Amino acid sequence: MASKDRASQKTADQVSLNADQAELQKFAELAHKWWDVNSEFKPLHEINPLRLNWINDLVDLKGKRVLDVGCGGGILSESMHFKGAKVTGIDLGEKALNVAKLHQLESGADVDYQCVSAEQLAALEPASFDVVTCMEMLEHVPDPAAIVAACAKLVKPNGSVFFSTINRNPKAYLLAVIGAEYVLNLLAKGTHDYAKFIKPSELSSWARHAKLDVMSLRGMSYHPFKQTYRLSDDVAVNYLMHTALPA
Ligand code: SAH
Repeated sequence: MASKDRASQKTADQVSLNADQAELQKFAELAHKWWDVNSEFKPLHEINPLRLNWINDLVDLKGKRVLDVGCGGGILSESMHFKGAKVTGIDLGEKALNVAKLHQLESGADVDYQCVSAEQLAALEPASFDVVTCMEMLEHVPDPAAIVAACAKLVKPNGSVFFSTINRNPKAYLLAVIGAEYVLNLLAKGTHDYAKFIKPSELSSWARHAKLDVMSLRGMSYHPFKQTYRLSDDVAVNYLMHTALPA
């Protein structure tokens, strides 16, 4: 289906859209900065090689049909394309998608970007993707469990779904909100709402409810003095989860 048709369908579904307009607006205001590695998106650029290699080591992206849910300006989508995957990127932020489309003219990536919700695409193209990624997005939506369920519906049997988000506890509040937004100025103030952070136990339970098996959990830790990120066993703040749909 052409993306124009999907856009007109969106109006009919708007009432039940699982999206927070204020969250989408925050990202719209920053949209022109997606590919500025020194902007508010710097942390996403810095963690990208870590998460990309982690995913690629687990599933070998070459030749895989991949869906990137909440793709934003396409940082992860493009990098998965360059690993040899056939990537579709979806987001409800039109401005981010426009930036993503423009950027690939420059980078030579070939990602199919569409403005459609995960739930809408799941109804249209169930069991279509070998790999689904949904990174740093669940903490921005009203009903994250519904996004997890849509991802489970979109992936093929035997396929993998990868999530990343932020844990909810005092350390996460201190580092991801106070530290990142107020002390280090890594992110724009108001980027994250502590109440929307997600414990790994909650994400695991939504995944299991959607028939996804939880395969592994990794922490992503930031070293404020070295200013570097690394994968770790510490899932107290940022973490990644690999889930898989049984055959
Ligand atoms: N996944 C990307 C971008 C993360 S930023 C990365 O990790 O590099 C969060 C993104 O989620 C933004 O692009 C925002 O527009 C998108 N988003 C927020 N709510 C959404 C929703 N309900 N459906 C789809 N995308 C959404």
